[in-house]
Amino acid sequence: MTTKKGRVFSGARPTGRQHLGNYLGAIKNYVALQADYECVYCIVDLHALTTLDEFENLRQNSAEMALDWLAAGIRPDETIMFVQSHVPQVTELHTILSMFTPLGKLTDLPTFKEKVAQHPHNVNYGLVGYPVLMTADITLYRAGIVPVGVDQASHLEFAREIVRTFNFRTKSQALVEPQMKNTEYPKVIGTDGVAKMSKSLNNDIELAATPDETQKKVMTMVTDPQRARRSDPGRPEVCNVFTLHKTFSPNQVGQIEVDCRSAAIGCVDCKKLLAKNINLDLEPFRARRAELAQDEDTVWDILHDGAARARQLADVTLNDVKAAVGLPQ
Ligand code: SF4
Repeated sequence: MTTKKGRVFSGARPTGRQHLGNYLGAIKNYVALQADYECVYCIVDLHALTTLDEFENLRQNSAEMALDWLAAGIRPDETIMFVQSHVPQVTELHTILSMFTPLGKLTDLPTFKEKVAQHPHNVNYGLVGYPVLMTADITLYRAGIVPVGVDQASHLEFAREIVRTFNFRTKSQALVEPQMKNTEYPKVIGTDGVAKMSKSLNNDIELAATPDETQKKVMTMVTDPQRARRSDPGRPEVCNVFTLHKTFSPNQVGQIEVDCRSAAIGCVDCKKLLAKNINLDLEPFRARRAELAQDEDTVWDILHDGAARARQLADVTLNDVKAAVGLPQ
């Protein structure tokens, strides 16, 4: 791996085929970061186990996610991409860091309370320790930079606190305190026009969908609710179709805004144009993905090779951490 400006780490749960929200909010950024940084990208399958209903599809979902990353432009010869559980050192570091993390702080985190509300019958030990495992993910590879959206910012701040506590109490510099790098497009709203795009809410548009499937999804998108009739002037600033036009129709978005406000364009035509432009934009991605999908073994070879390189980085950090806490080696 060539030394660049620093090392970036990011992890994502294996949620299978990725959607436009993942693409615009994370994957495009992952690809761009490769130009300036050493990148370590992890499919966090252990995190997925904290909500047990996901574990059955972990292998297939990991492969599908890796396919999307590769098709989008992740370069595995430079970037380390791997599956979290293939580097068992992360669980060892998680255990050690858990001794430096007050339980009350974990149970006070708003994200923990949200998870409890979502999974009231499965408030397991792993769920409480989720931010500690995340801290182990980041620090194991000595990542100085973590790209995050607004909803992950509190977790990263928590990780930084654990690092500072660990280094202070052990009088060492065994862990690197990560810095936050805001993503430019942190939140993509789904087809319902209300919630963040998410597979579980069925308001997503899959990257690997066919052009027809994409068009069908786009045609269901909620638009300006005040535009009840075709002749009513629209308000593009409240319309999620318009938001996506900004990304996928950069040369037409100015005219769309004018035409929407004057009711010169109807929502049906506006959505058709968006679907067409999304399909055009994703055409090269979809062609690459279809080619890669013909040989899933190669995808697993890439992930296993990434894990071997990640384990080398992990061993160095773990040795320093063990020395810092006085564990015999
Ligand atoms: Fe939204 Fe387009 Fe309809 Fe305007 S014309 S409200 S931007 S879908």
